[in-house]
Amino acid sequence: MTLRTLDSLGDVSGKSVIVRCDLNVPLEEGRITDDGRIRASLPTLTRLLDQGARVVVISHLGRPKGEPEAKYSLAPVAARLGELLGREVAFSPETVGDAATSIVESLRGGEIALLENLRFSPGETSKDEAERVAFAARLAEFGDAFVSDGFGVVHRRQASVYELAKALPSAAGLLIEAELDVLDRLTARPEKPYTVVLGGSKVSDKLGVIGHLLPRVTSLLIGGGMMFTFLAALGHRVGGSLLEEDQLDTVRGYLQEAERLGVEIVLPTDAVVASHFGGDAEHEVRRVDELEATPWGEKGMGLDIGPETAAAFAERVRSSRTVFWNGPMGVFELGPFAGGTKAVAEALSQVEGLSVVGGGDSAAAVRALGFDDDRFGHISTGGGASLEFLEGASLPGLEVLGWQ
Ligand code: ADP
Ligand code: MG
Repeated sequence: MTLRTLDSLGDVSGKSVIVRCDLNVPLEEGRITDDGRIRASLPTLTRLLDQGARVVVISHLGRPKGEPEAKYSLAPVAARLGELLGREVAFSPETVGDAATSIVESLRGGEIALLENLRFSPGETSKDEAERVAFAARLAEFGDAFVSDGFGVVHRRQASVYELAKALPSAAGLLIEAELDVLDRLTARPEKPYTVVLGGSKVSDKLGVIGHLLPRVTSLLIGGGMMFTFLAALGHRVGGSLLEEDQLDTVRGYLQEAERLGVEIVLPTDAVVASHFGGDAEHEVRRVDELEATPWGEKGMGLDIGPETAAAFAERVRSSRTVFWNGPMGVFELGPFAGGTKAVAEALSQVEGLSVVGGGDSAAAVRALGFDDDRFGHISTGGGASLEFLEGASLPGLEVLGWQ
């Protein structure tokens, strides 16, 4: 754990520092609907500006295909960043090239510019290492040093994350430090009782996380779509609910492993079964041993944990000292099936100890259900990155900053 931090860059006054942020915010018709990621980038940017650095911010937005596309322009982000910083943010309408160079060269100490979307250039995400190296070299011309602070992309081997960090003296920013501190507390020294709540759609997405966390936790609560594969593994019939037949053996393996380790895997006792997948579906609560006893028989789909399960999960969450939650308990996007997710989020906000929400949809779920970020210990800005970290994977964007 020898991550190079900002201090390792020495005195940055008057130096040009490139900062890779993850400013990939949701936009609707050019309007930013959630500026959480911009806010998360402020501590590092403010620190560098206060130290008199000339700050050049780079980021991606959305998934353009290696060429400019107006709807993925970072221009609205530059405006919002300026408001939040209370400083002028110069915006370069190209990522590299003469216009970008002249904007960067005109910056004085304590001034900041944002360059246009990195993914307008094919080199950023190219599979060809030489192309990534070449693009990183062009970016490197803008700076004397590089700060990596886009936690949401550290699991990607991309030019601005990996090759650029090799091209310049480089260090991690404050956001990456904060994210790693929390993830480290979840893996290296969690306070007990430690409860992990997993949901979402698929078991197969979460196998790595289950495998890595199982030996570390007190109990593992399973909801969401993946609960049905667990229930089926125990012999229950699950009707039209999500079922991954090819994971039944793996799931049985986890159940045995948990028993051997003395870890409790807690499965739902009831579920909300719907006539079909839709907000207008008819639905009723059923015990897990009679999921096919609804009027829709084998077609009925379980779309949420039931109220008895929600109460039991909430109780366990509240009484834990460390809780990590990934994956909604039901199809929270549809009103009638948001109850389980809401109950768990409410309980999580009452935890005395460390409570962490990880996963893109989970973070979106708690916000959509009206919970403020500060009601939880931490909401990770990087869904994929935090999950890969918790799987014990090595992340290229961290490795290159000295992390082991
Ligand atoms: P995250 O992004 O937080 O890791 P996932 O991507 O694993 O979460 O899962 C999110 C999705 O899981 C949501 O879109 C939600 O609708 C879906 N989901 C949750 N419960 C069920 C269920 N019972 N059946 C089908 N889909 C479900
Ligand atoms: Mg997701």
